[in-house]
Amino acid sequence: MEELGIPDEFRAAVHKLYEQVRAKIITREGMSECFGSNIGVKQGCPLSPTLFGLYIDKLEDWLNKTEGGGIQLASYVVKLLLYADDLILISKTAQGLREQLKALELFCQEVGMQVNTSKTKIMIFTLKRNERQNVFLFEGSPLEIVNEYKYLGIDFHHKLSWETCKAKRIQGGWKASFLLQNRCRKAELWDWKTKKTLFGLLVTPVVLYGCEVWGSSMSNHGWRQIERIQKHLITSSLKVKSTVPYEILLAEAGSFSLEASAIARMISYLKKVENMDNLRWPKMVVNDTLERKKKTWMNQNTKWMYKWGINMQECPNSNREIKNYVIERFRTAMWTGQIGRKKAHYIREFNLTGEHDEKAYLGTVIKGKAKILVAQLRTGSHHLRCETGRWTIPKEDWERRICLFCSKGVVETEWHFVMECSAYDDIRIQYKNNLKVDRLEELFEGTKLPATTSFIFKIHSRRADIEKSLKSD
Ligand SMILES: [Zn+2]
Repeated sequence: MEELGIPDEFRAAVHKLYEQVRAKIITREGMSECFGSNIGVKQGCPLSPTLFGLYIDKLEDWLNKTEGGGIQLASYVVKLLLYADDLILISKTAQGLREQLKALELFCQEVGMQVNTSKTKIMIFTLKRNERQNVFLFEGSPLEIVNEYKYLGIDFHHKLSWETCKAKRIQGGWKASFLLQNRCRKAELWDWKTKKTLFGLLVTPVVLYGCEVWGSSMSNHGWRQIERIQKHLITSSLKVKSTVPYEILLAEAGSFSLEASAIARMISYLKKVENMDNLRWPKMVVNDTLERKKKTWMNQNTKWMYKWGINMQECPNSNREIKNYVIERFRTAMWTGQIGRKKAHYIREFNLTGEHDEKAYLGTVIKGKAKILVAQLRTGSHHLRCETGRWTIPKEDWERRICLFCSKGVVETEWHFVMECSAYDDIRIQYKNNLKVDRLEELFEGTKLPATTSFIFKIHSRRADIEKSLKSD
């Protein structure tokens, strides 16, 4: 502080604060006796980061003056990374790192700082086994060489693979999602919209942490694994089958894939970098890698966007607009081109526009049981013959999945069940004004909705009753 020209009275004040530090420790047997302490700062003292900062500033100059170490990043040499009380020394060679460690040792002696060597690790980014035989000492004792290291919350692997990172993100995501579902159950919270919001606030950030860095390295298979977390929440909340295609689940739940959120976050970050001052490192690195042909982070980002038909130049600037733009691209990719039979059926009957909007029937007006029956009907998670015929071995031919509840001799489809089957004619009469539609989708529109759900509830119960009596015969 003296060197920095901080006035005497300030230094005297700081001195006074720390003249007589008294501390107590909470133990299993209660509070300990009071004792004097002359090391460290007081617990939670706001002076701590400032004092540390004063020391660490000097370290940066000190290390930059030493020979050896560092890597080339754009046109600069980076020798160390500093974040709060975290310090990383970087070197391309073992010798360079040794020189840096020696310099750090001398620095600590000079200013009276200590390095906690049990928390200090060495990571060698290499595929060569013999490189890993190197020994690095600090104050005479060897430092542990590790395969993985977590820096600012991101797990780095010595082979530069993201497998560990992916595994940790997935693991954390499942944990957060189960925790959320348990809490919802305890609080008797069944409303889908609230659950969806909570998922976005509590689970998505855990899963996608750092995706600006690793997102573009994730394989398709990796994304499928990540998306299973979201799929599970939707299928268990709406009580639909886990075999329902992801796209149908998303459209029905009014959600978007985690991969879309990840791309949106990555683009937001790139836009932020674009607007940075030319002397900021992220900006220099992006500009530098743009000119390289190699497999760089930036090239992979471009490839990732291309996969979903996204063009950075076309992309708007605000975060909200970026998200909407990406979501629209994903929606287009999901519902155009070659789509499977189930998806085509879903679009034709229930969602002609392929919108992923809030479905009215999932709102609070409709009761729980009816809501689930509707969700099951719309996603093919029911026991109508058109579905059950697919599960038999060998698969039953489509034409043979005939309705057993009437004598019409036609396939028991959702349309037949709701609109035609004579087993429910008496119920249908009560609702005839609501049933004048060309497509099932129209039944679930605003004003018709309450009547539709109670109708579906009734015909469903009737069907269950007939089925029971058929079985007992
Ligand atoms: Zn029938």
